[in-house]
Amino acid sequence: MPHLRRVAAALVLAGAAVTTACAVNPATGSRELSLVSEGQEIQMGRESDPQIVAQMGLYPDSAVQRYVRDIGLRMAARSERPDLPWTFRVLDDPTVNAFALPGGFIYITRGILTHLTNEAELAGVLGHEIGHVTARHSANQMSRAQLAQIGLVAGMVFSETVRDYAGVASQSLGLLFLKFGRDDESQADELGIRYMTRLGYDPRELAGVMRMLSRTSELASGGGRVPEWLSTHPDPANRSESILAQVAAGDYASATTVERDGFLRRIDDMPFGPDPREGFVDGGAFHHPGLAFRLDTQGWQVSNQKTAVQFISSDGGAAVILTIGDGSPESALQEFGGQDGVSVGSGTRVDVNGSPGVRAPFEAQTQDGTLAGEVVFVDYGGNTYRLLGLSSSQGWPSVASTARAIQQSFRRETDPDVLSAMPDRLEVVSVGRSLSFDAFRSRYPSSVDPVIVALINQIDETATVERGLWKRVVGSN
Ligand SMILES: [Zn+2]
Repeated sequence: MPHLRRVAAALVLAGAAVTTACAVNPATGSRELSLVSEGQEIQMGRESDPQIVAQMGLYPDSAVQRYVRDIGLRMAARSERPDLPWTFRVLDDPTVNAFALPGGFIYITRGILTHLTNEAELAGVLGHEIGHVTARHSANQMSRAQLAQIGLVAGMVFSETVRDYAGVASQSLGLLFLKFGRDDESQADELGIRYMTRLGYDPRELAGVMRMLSRTSELASGGGRVPEWLSTHPDPANRSESILAQVAAGDYASATTVERDGFLRRIDDMPFGPDPREGFVDGGAFHHPGLAFRLDTQGWQVSNQKTAVQFISSDGGAAVILTIGDGSPESALQEFGGQDGVSVGSGTRVDVNGSPGVRAPFEAQTQDGTLAGEVVFVDYGGNTYRLLGLSSSQGWPSVASTARAIQQSFRRETDPDVLSAMPDRLEVVSVGRSLSFDAFRSRYPSSVDPVIVALINQIDETATVERGLWKRVVGSN
């Protein structure tokens, strides 16, 4: 959360009226029930795009953005829906992920880029996501979700207080990460192959992406992280086989472009893994080197997003939500109390470890009952931080002292090691003659486990590292 600016996010689904129409699926040619028009698809994408960008952040390298966009646009231009407002963005997110919104908005993370080994794989991922859009999977999923979620949306319109409430923010974003069924996935793979091969990319490389995802998930089951892409894109192992079967059955002899070296040079020096400058938990505290503050966690779970840091009680029933607002603490409190359904008690001036602030109790009426809590606004480092502690009104008394301890622990970060923390980086090295994997690792040491080095190079630990370009990960401390 480098900016940590409050998102004035438009609600994703509010405003899009539900209408029913039977339409021909542009990519597949079949007639199907569609609850959303193309105009509504585009509107959904346009309204959600700023929210995605604010929550996840754009990867701050225009050359990489342009590189991905160019490949995406060239494939989209030759798809069945060339006239959508196609938009391709690289998100500054370490997770292995890619997804699409209706209307032609496609996102891939720097995390997945660091796990790919060539341009054909990148084209395969983008082509697959383009396929979800051209076959209207997201729009159809969205319209089903839309029907199911109307109640929730009505409840969420009320205010940012409720929207921020422990997990609701991610729930609303979660609507965008809809699970696709097996059929949709195979169809997107088929379309991905269609689009990547039209540009001459070797379609077998898409199978390589699936193998990488499946290895990543095996590693995750040993204690690591399941790549986000898997939660929305099931069965990568089976899909790798069916992709190869499809390729064998088709005529793709002229699609031979892989472009390994060019791709690797593009991702050389890319951050690898989380960026500690955007905040991390260590030793019972949440540290934010970028903004030079820290807070005690009091044992609560920390969810660190670009726009908010949430401290969530173990039963999930209470939270302290840190965001940055505008104006003085007093005017911010006034604005907070001015929201519909929110009533604020009288404010008290407080000193938060040397920073001036104001604290006030509040209640908020929501569809799910009354929320209660205390809000603290602190003036620190030229920003006004909002620390919103809240729970159900029945639950608040039992968590109030812990929430207050978290709020009151907000203070300047002074540890030089924390302040100078930097992310690990990918480094592309040129291997002059073939080596065993172990010899490669001792010659070009990495700051991550051998299994990760093998994964991101998409080789086995028993393989020979041939002459050419390879990846390693270097720490900066
Ligand atoms: Zn998919």
